[in-house]
Amino acid sequence: MILGASGDLTGRLLLPGLARLIGSGKAAGIKLAGAGGPGYSQQQWVKRVTDICQASAEGATTHRKAALKAIPKHTSFTELDVTKEGELAKLVSSLEAPVALYFALPPAVTQKACEALKPGELPESTVLVMEKPFGSDQASAANLNRTLIRLVPEENIHRVDHFLGKGTVFNILGLRFANRLLEPLFTSEHVEKVEIFYDEYLALENRAGYYDSAGALRDMIQSHLLQVLALLSMYAPSTLGERDVRDHLGSVLRATAVAGEIKDSTRRARYTAGTSKGRKVPDYASEDGVDASRNTETLAEVTLAINNSRWAGTEFILRAGKALGTPRKEAVITFRPVNHLPTGFKGADLPTTLRIGFGPDTLQLDLDVNGPGDMYTLNRVTLGTELNSPDLLPYGEVLLGVLSGDPTLSVRGDTAEECWRIVDPILAAWAANEVPLQEYKAGGNGPRGWKSNSD
Ligand code: NDP
Repeated sequence: MILGASGDLTGRLLLPGLARLIGSGKAAGIKLAGAGGPGYSQQQWVKRVTDICQASAEGATTHRKAALKAIPKHTSFTELDVTKEGELAKLVSSLEAPVALYFALPPAVTQKACEALKPGELPESTVLVMEKPFGSDQASAANLNRTLIRLVPEENIHRVDHFLGKGTVFNILGLRFANRLLEPLFTSEHVEKVEIFYDEYLALENRAGYYDSAGALRDMIQSHLLQVLALLSMYAPSTLGERDVRDHLGSVLRATAVAGEIKDSTRRARYTAGTSKGRKVPDYASEDGVDASRNTETLAEVTLAINNSRWAGTEFILRAGKALGTPRKEAVITFRPVNHLPTGFKGADLPTTLRIGFGPDTLQLDLDVNGPGDMYTLNRVTLGTELNSPDLLPYGEVLLGVLSGDPTLSVRGDTAEECWRIVDPILAAWAANEVPLQEYKAGGNGPRGWKSNSD
């Protein structure tokens, strides 16, 4: 049951993810229903589902085409105000259990809808699927957790981070823990710094309503990039069971904090008018729906430390931003120099780096070798591969977890609070203007002098 049937997330990401999942044969027997406000109808919903299923059926086998055709035939739309006491519970009870309730609603509406539900009102098997942002700080996330846990057990609460649905991100575990060449090297003794970038071409794209009250730190770093940091730095779990994996993710995030003083370890900036990928981008502050006095950052960089025996001494630099000239979506692990380089080698001025790209999914190891020519001169070579794109879209992977009752790819309640605990002090310092809001031209690479900018 998708609450928010007419919404942007539902049409752009959720339904296409679901259709691909059904087309892959991994969601046999699923029934889809939608619900939402009074401006939408059964007819519009069926058309939306039909169009998306049809697009996904292109090239599918006859059997899978049939599965996709069946979905719009049996789907229904219910008009309701989810914030009204009793309405949502009544709707859930009218459906065949178990029901997965996907809250594709504005965050404030989701909060109200959950508060309107009474303990015992939902069948215990009901699964609640919560979108990001999960709260707006540690206190509100804790509050939302308390509300949810009154309704269903923790393992039935899926806090979606669609980044964790990305094949490459989960591949980090295989890469780190299945390779003798890498597993022992992921410690501060060998790794100088870990950088996680999410630089996008995209600017505001008419999403001021959401983005202007979030900003780059809340939108990307607090959620997705901290999850990637945790995957890159967690101790090896003994199994891939959800409890082991999520215990280890939570444990490393509990050890994570801003490195040193916030004014030295964080940077924020906002784009001004420019050209990005051949498109004119207006000044962020003058975009429709933006309140310039909010000082929302569209580019953020934070340097974190992991205060445990494995990582103390390694810098973790997280950066995310919009309207940038060069999209850069990758994690870069920079290794320390060798203890002693035999005297006589020339050209050894670049460190060994391992790059993990997210979309396109790639893996690259930059090494120095002698190569052709002068045998005393070291040359840079890159061993690289493009990884096969996963069969499922990220939201398909998220939904597969929901439908199969496996919460491994969702964020556990305590971890969601930890992520806010890490960024809350930064948000407070920025709100108090302790770190200046810089500017950068849309289409450029951000302000100079940041750790993550080599300019
Ligand atoms: P939209 O504003 O596009 O859609 C919100 C939906 O909620 C609409 O279908 C609206 O119905 C419905 N709704 C609002 N109030 C009520 C109510 N009281 N009762 C029933 N239905 C209601 O939001 P998005 O789809 O963009 O976002 C949904 C969630 O997904 C948010 O939490 C967002 O942060 C998250 N998200 C969104 C992404 C995106 O790219 N859009 C990406 C990642 C996360 P109606 O208009 O008919 O009243």
